[in-house]
Amino acid sequence: MIPFDYQRATDADSAVATLAGRPRAVFLAGGTNLVDHLKLGLLRPELLIDVSRLPLDTIDALPGGGVRIGAMVRNSDLAAHPLIRRSYPALAQAVLAGASGQLRNLATTGGNLLQRSRCRYFLDVTTPCNKREPGSGCSAIDGHNRDSAVLGASEHCVATHPSDMAVALAALDAVIQVHGTDGKRAIPLTELYRLPGDEPNRDTMLRHGELITAVDLPDLPIATRSAFRKVRDRASYAFALVSVAAAVDIAHGVIRDASIALGGLAHKPWRATRAEDLLRGTLADHDVFRAAADTELAAARPLAHNAFKVPMAANTLIAVLRELTTPETR
Ligand SMILES: Cc1cc2nc3c(=O)[nH]c(=O)nc-3n(C[C@H](O)[C@H](O)[C@H](O)COP(=O)(O)OP(=O)(O)OC[C@H]3O[C@@H](n4cnc5c(N)ncnc54)[C@H](O)[C@@H]3O)c2cc1C
Repeated sequence: MIPFDYQRATDADSAVATLAGRPRAVFLAGGTNLVDHLKLGLLRPELLIDVSRLPLDTIDALPGGGVRIGAMVRNSDLAAHPLIRRSYPALAQAVLAGASGQLRNLATTGGNLLQRSRCRYFLDVTTPCNKREPGSGCSAIDGHNRDSAVLGASEHCVATHPSDMAVALAALDAVIQVHGTDGKRAIPLTELYRLPGDEPNRDTMLRHGELITAVDLPDLPIATRSAFRKVRDRASYAFALVSVAAAVDIAHGVIRDASIALGGLAHKPWRATRAEDLLRGTLADHDVFRAAADTELAAARPLAHNAFKVPMAANTLIAVLRELTTPETR
């Protein structure tokens, strides 16, 4: 057994200050990802700072419009909240597509965003993995890479990002509120995550000691017509092979605006800006949806065992766009 200290935080300031002074300290929220990592030997912290009881567990309408989701809001409470279900249905659907009821009761908003990759080699300490041990190599590139990335990967890492919630938040223009020793800052969710490059051990742009305190969703009328769809090996309790979160503003058959993010394809939620650009101002039909999907996925570079993800992502995106633009569903 590897010993470590445990402290329960009573306020965000002291949690941040304590962690910043201890290079091998980590925050513990619901523990549904972190505790697995302790058991697997992926992580050997000197101190766990339990932030799960900080008073950051409410969902509140923001004065200027939009919603603030506290970082300790449990996944189940987030998915069930009337404001989220009504105004941001893609987010509620994404959260419900993740993990299981029991896990969602424990898992927090902040912890969900910072869960780490499910690449089998990252989780297996007996194999080389640049994400776990920089410079050791990537076992997935020439190994079992059915789950690996097809977009934005590097020669050092082909792992994918696992959070379903993050994919919906990427499409909904969410902004992450962060508290660090240098003060508070706001980071657009699309800028929170990194592509692997030559530093795949770094998942995000956060600095050591920074605590996520909330996720803000802007007042986004387009989001009321949004949806999330996930393709996976089992109907529940499985991570995404491919997922799509999208929101569409359509009038008289013409797409006025579209917001799309793809999951399961890259080291971060993939905001599909090329597809969005192609869709804006066009008549909603199958050929346009196909062109949008093909344009976005033209950059895909599949490995030996994951080429299926490219048509799967295209077909899933087309299906979601059809669902969101079919008159009966308006
Ligand atoms: C069997 C299984 C199946 C799953 N299936 C899915 C799935 O299909 N889709 C999906 O999206 N997820 C899935 N999950 C992942 C699950 O959603 C995450 O484990 C969970 O959301 C993590 O939240 P947590 O609060 O337990 O985080 P923790 O495990 O406590 O923490 C995770 C990480 O975040 C850091 N952290 C936590 N809170 C903060 C904060 N506020 N600020 C800064 N750092 C913080 C911790 O230090 C740690 O590094 C699954 C998990 C399991 C075990």
